[in-house]
Amino acid sequence: MPLIDINSEKCRKCYACVRVCPVQAIKVDVESAIPSIVDSRCIGCGSCVTICHPGAVVFEDAREETKALLQSGQTVAAVVGSAIPGEFPDITDYRKFVEMIRRLGFTYVCEASFGVDLVAHKYAQLFANNKGKYYITANCPSVCFYIEKYHPELIENLAPIVPPMIAAAKVVHKRYGDDTRIVYIGACISKKKSAKRYQRTDGQVDAVLTFRELRQLFTEFDIKESKLEFSEFDPPFGNKGSLYPISNGVLQAANISEDLLKGSVITVEGRKNMIDAVHELEKHPQMINRHFNLFYDEGCLMGPGTSRGGQRFLRHTLVVNYSNKRIQNLNKREWAKNLKYFLNLDLSASFVNDDQRLPMPPFSKVKEVLQILGKDSPADSLGCGACGFTSCHDFAIAVAKGLVKPEMCITFSLYKRLEHADKLNDISHNLEKINEELTVTKRESAQYQQLADKAQQAVDTILQKLPVSFLLVDENLHIIQANQPLVQMLGSEAVEINEVIPGLAGADLKTLLPQPVYNLFSFVIANGEDIFNRDIHLLDDAMHNISIFTIRKNKVAGAVIRDMQSPEIRKEEVIKRITEVIDKNLEMVQKIGFLLGEGAAETEQMLNSIIEFYKTVK
Ligand code: SF4
Ligand code: SF4
Repeated sequence: MPLIDINSEKCRKCYACVRVCPVQAIKVDVESAIPSIVDSRCIGCGSCVTICHPGAVVFEDAREETKALLQSGQTVAAVVGSAIPGEFPDITDYRKFVEMIRRLGFTYVCEASFGVDLVAHKYAQLFANNKGKYYITANCPSVCFYIEKYHPELIENLAPIVPPMIAAAKVVHKRYGDDTRIVYIGACISKKKSAKRYQRTDGQVDAVLTFRELRQLFTEFDIKESKLEFSEFDPPFGNKGSLYPISNGVLQAANISEDLLKGSVITVEGRKNMIDAVHELEKHPQMINRHFNLFYDEGCLMGPGTSRGGQRFLRHTLVVNYSNKRIQNLNKREWAKNLKYFLNLDLSASFVNDDQRLPMPPFSKVKEVLQILGKDSPADSLGCGACGFTSCHDFAIAVAKGLVKPEMCITFSLYKRLEHADKLNDISHNLEKINEELTVTKRESAQYQQLADKAQQAVDTILQKLPVSFLLVDENLHIIQANQPLVQMLGSEAVEINEVIPGLAGADLKTLLPQPVYNLFSFVIANGEDIFNRDIHLLDDAMHNISIFTIRKNKVAGAVIRDMQSPEIRKEEVIKRITEVIDKNLEMVQKIGFLLGEGAAETEQMLNSIIEFYKTVK
């Protein structure tokens, strides 16, 4: 499992973690825009954990591992970092605190400060015999990871001495047996990563709990100071090593001079100072000719494994007060004897080249990014630092390396936001226009609807008042509309239906008309050919005349049925039909006359030609 992880559901995409990460170990996914940790690049500093207010950045939790160890039946020792009084000001006596830890199930509760004393002694020896070579203290794991991953050329300058946590673990193994399992309790996250480096050697630390996790365990097991008696740490006890949480504490533990004129060590603490110190040391090792006592945090007092909101100088005072109390009560002879004895332990360490530097992207690519960011001229390059990079150029390099997104540049984001706002304005303006047009269209459509309703009423009235029967049928030969004369013509049953369903709408034609007449409708709907003036017999066997015509081909047909018995129709029809007979006779007479006329003309012509012939014969 990676040391640090990001809970994407809690993440608000503010990128504060990306900006604060000193080594660009947090990548932003182009698609989801969610940041994620690149474990191989991470130095475990915990800055991202501290800065993330929604608590989306989480670190490896060792509580379950610790509980499993404590329940395993093995001997388990707690090694406690001396920043503890700064973290637990609410616990009035450190001995109560020791008992609280014991109650969790630890067999031994030891101080890490004796490990600091051992390491400090080794540093004093190393610095005193440096032979012109200058060292960087290797106590802060984040500093060691930083050099291994980003300045491997300085690995040779890392002091080859184990960190206090491992020295203390070696002491516990020597004193209480190699099979004693060890849980370190401290202020820092990177020790979780550092402990893995020393596994399968003596000095193995099986789990690292932060103070925050320890508090959670106290709560889980309802362990309270008020319910417990005192208990003392298990020996060996530490001396000035208890000042280790304050950055120059390790020098004081080793009686290394901090005199500015005569001293040979510079203590540097804090993210930016530490990075600057490493850069300068790399550039000018011989000009600086000092050892560096480096810490990523401002001492362990404010480490990312401590509770949020702690006050640095209050914690400083609490640690100093605690150290004073411990040192005053210390049996110095016993301590010196223990120191001599345990200095025989192998406290040497080595480091590995884990170069994580990314190749420099081509200049053209960086230039392209600067153009996208709108920072292609020096005047545009604000270098505001809000992105966490020292210049727009460095930021563009990180974008070109694929580590960060252009949106992390505030001016670029603002520009984009304004661009989006303009687009939104345009869209909203267009929507307003469409809305206005819709209102006009709605008004016009209401007017058309009114006109259509009126027209429909007029047609209905006309249809009802026609002296002939009229009906409309659909493609299924169901009635769409029938007028009153037709209803009357179909008889009393149709009249009753019409009272319930005006105009017989939906009635099946087959049930109302004789089959031959129904077939005529069927023919017109199926073929789209009209039928005019066909004489038919309806239900009462009375003679009717029907015309069926297409209104919408194969969909709607209309029909006019005339009752040939009705006086007006009869008179009109007789006149029409006599007129037709007269017209036909006249046509025939005309044809005969034409033929007779033509024949007479030919006869006359022939007789005239014979007379002319006889005149010439005489
Ligand atoms: S700091 Fe990082 S992890 Fe936390 S909310 Fe912001 S972007 Fe997300
Ligand atoms: S722990 Fe430090 S190095 Fe690792 S991702 Fe967080 S800020 Fe970056």
